[in-house]
Amino acid sequence: MTADQAGRSDRAECAEALEKLSEFLDQELDESAGDRIREHLADCEPCLAEYDVEDHIKKLVKRSCSEKAPLELQARIRTQLTILRTQLPG
Ligand SMILES: [Zn+2]
Repeated sequence: MTADQAGRSDRAECAEALEKLSEFLDQELDESAGDRIREHLADCEPCLAEYDVEDHIKKLVKRSCSEKAPLELQARIRTQLTILRTQLPG
């Protein structure tokens, strides 16, 4: 298998999936749009990783702060997760 075949070329789908990620997490998408995102995530590791980060942030923020979600905390968690992710091999 060549590198080209291993890497997915559907960048447009990725852009769309990432763009709608927060709406998807907030369950603001209609069913068909949500299904498309879900299918894409099942098929696309980079986007799934991004989904995990967003999902994680939302849960952490919700748990640690039921009244309001300070942007500073969200930014800090995001930075930490991004660092963790970039340190992973491969
Ligand atoms: Zn993708």
